[in-house]
Amino acid sequence: MPLADFRSPRLFVDAPLSAGAQISLERGQANYLGNVLRLGSGSSILVFNGRDGEWRAAIASGKRPDRLDIVARTRPQDSLPDLAYVFAPLKHARLDYMVQKAVEMGAASLQPVLTQHTQVSRINGERMRANVVEAAEQCGILSIAAVEQPLALDRYLTGRDPLRLLVFCDEGAEVASPIAALGGMHSGGIDVLIGPEGGFAETERAVLLKQPKVLRLSLGPRILRADTAAVAALTLVQATLGDWCAPPKP
Ligand code: SAH
Repeated sequence: MPLADFRSPRLFVDAPLSAGAQISLERGQANYLGNVLRLGSGSSILVFNGRDGEWRAAIASGKRPDRLDIVARTRPQDSLPDLAYVFAPLKHARLDYMVQKAVEMGAASLQPVLTQHTQVSRINGERMRANVVEAAEQCGILSIAAVEQPLALDRYLTGRDPLRLLVFCDEGAEVASPIAALGGMHSGGIDVLIGPEGGFAETERAVLLKQPKVLRLSLGPRILRADTAAVAALTLVQATLGDWCAPPKP
C-alpha cells in the first residue's frame, strides 16, 4: 500500500480541488492551523474532499491562515468497500468511539437502527459526521462514510436491498468459527448489524433470522460490549470478504 504522508496536517474541505484552485477555510480550521499548529503563510498541508483525491496545499494569507492555494495531487480518489455498519446507537463517548472505529475499519456507511432495548433515542447526526471526518483526517482515509438517518429496526429491514448479505452478530448464536462461516459467503454488498447493550429481543431475533441472505454470526463464547463487537465483526468481515483481501477499486 502506498503510504500516506502522516507528517503533514490533513484537513477535510468541502470545496472542489484542482491545481491552482484557491479555497477559503472555515473559522475552526483557520484557528486550528494558525493557533494550534502555529502554521503561517507558505506552510504546506494536505487536503481532501471525499471526491477529488488528496492534494498538497499551501497556506496563502496574511494574519490568519484562512485561505489555501491548491498545488498538486498527492493521491487519487479511492472508493470504500460496499460495507454498511448498522448499529443500535450508544451514548456519547462510546458512540463517538464506535463511529471513529467503524470509519477506520473501512465502513462506507453508518446506519443507526433503533431496537427495543436501545437506550438512546436522540442521535446527533452532526456529531457523528464530525467523528467520521476526524477519523478520515487522522487515518489518511480519502472517502467520507455516509451518515444515515436513524431508522426503527423493522423499517430498516423492510427498506434494505435483499441481495445484500446481512451479517447479524447475535450474542445468542452457537459458538462456531466466524471465519469459516463468512468464508463460504458471496461477497458483494454487506451490512454488519450490531445490537444495543441490552441485546436483541427474542421477537427481533426471530424477524432477523427470517431475512433473506442473513448470516447469524457468533463472536465467541463471551459477550462483548457493543463497541468491541463492532471492531471484532468488522475485522472478520473485512478480512474474509472485504478490501483487506483485495485492493479497493479506484
Ligand atoms: N446485554 C446483552 C449483550 C449485548 S452486547 C446480553 O447480555 O446478552 C451488544 C451487541 O454486541 C449484541 O447485540 C451483538 O450484536 C454483539 N455481540 C456481543 N457479543 C457477541 C457475541 N459473543 N457474538 C455475537 N455478537 C455479539
